[in-house]
Amino acid sequence: MSLAKKNLTLDQLKSGIITGDRLILSQAITLCESQLPEDQRSATQLIDSILNYTGTSLRIGVTGIPGVGKSTFIEAFGLFLISKGHKIAVLTIDPTSTLNQGSILGDKTRMNELSQNRNAYIRPSPTSGHLGGISEKTRENMLLCEAAGFDIILIETVGVGQSEVAVKDLSDFLLLLMISGAGDELQGIKRGLMELADMILVNKSDGENIEESLRTKIVFEQALHYFPQNINHWKVPVETISSRQPTNLDRVWNYIDEYITLTKTNDYFYTNRKHQNLQWFREGLSNQLLQYVFQNPKLSNKKKEIEQAIQEGKKSVKSGLEALLKQVFDQ
Ligand code: GDP
Repeated sequence: MSLAKKNLTLDQLKSGIITGDRLILSQAITLCESQLPEDQRSATQLIDSILNYTGTSLRIGVTGIPGVGKSTFIEAFGLFLISKGHKIAVLTIDPTSTLNQGSILGDKTRMNELSQNRNAYIRPSPTSGHLGGISEKTRENMLLCEAAGFDIILIETVGVGQSEVAVKDLSDFLLLLMISGAGDELQGIKRGLMELADMILVNKSDGENIEESLRTKIVFEQALHYFPQNINHWKVPVETISSRQPTNLDRVWNYIDEYITLTKTNDYFYTNRKHQNLQWFREGLSNQLLQYVFQNPKLSNKKKEIEQAIQEGKKSVKSGLEALLKQVFDQ
């Protein structure tokens, strides 16, 4: 039976969400993550109905290679923000969950203290493969959390690859975590990761690592000099922090605050969100088209046939696309 039927009505879900009922929020997220077409229809209605309650939060992306300390940072920074009176939702973008059954985080207990705080809501990655884009579900979850009154959304990337670009498209401010002593190549400096960041944090600056972290900070600052100026006139800061022995988190927050004030004044904040909306629409459109092909047996068979012909060198990619699209429009 579909989740929509088994549980609450859409009105009950909506009012539960906007009154901040966490149990109902979780049910709503599960509904949106369901693959059943009936649930998907309900989810669309639900998202539409809460749209007026969304958009007011601050969306902060957190990225960096595995092991750099993202979870530890989110735990510390989340608690810091809560101490300032905020309500935090933590979401993840996890490309592995679209490929495998289940997220690599599944059995890892993370953010212990934060997860027990009533002003925090932590949603693990979706546990089953989605046909949609890697950030589609995270985006919907973000809107639901905003409607439920969480005023800061922390979006963590898990794994490397497409997720950094996806998190950029979801967030207002992107934090890139680095550490001293890990090669440039590994940390994505040469892959253009630094161009995406709004602030760079050299994490694990504690104990014996403080000196080295300060040196790394200077290297990053120098590297940033060679980058073209940001269109939003923001100068990307670099800061050393410790997430384990929380240090400099107030500075991180001050910079974010400064950025938001600047970009709200010069309008970039709003134009960026409008641009993101269009990006989401376009991503959604291509996902929906793909799903349409996957779910229709005739089209799906045709697709397999064409793919085989392409692999065997009997068809070009271009003519394969034309042939499939013709079939889609002839339906
Ligand atoms: P993630 O894979 O990026 O989420 O990294 P984790 O948050 O799981 O951290 C990886 C390891 O680094 C863990 O053993 C953490 O305890 C450790 N770690 C994280 N932040 C710090 C820090 O600020 N200082 C030190 N010394 N260790 C840290």
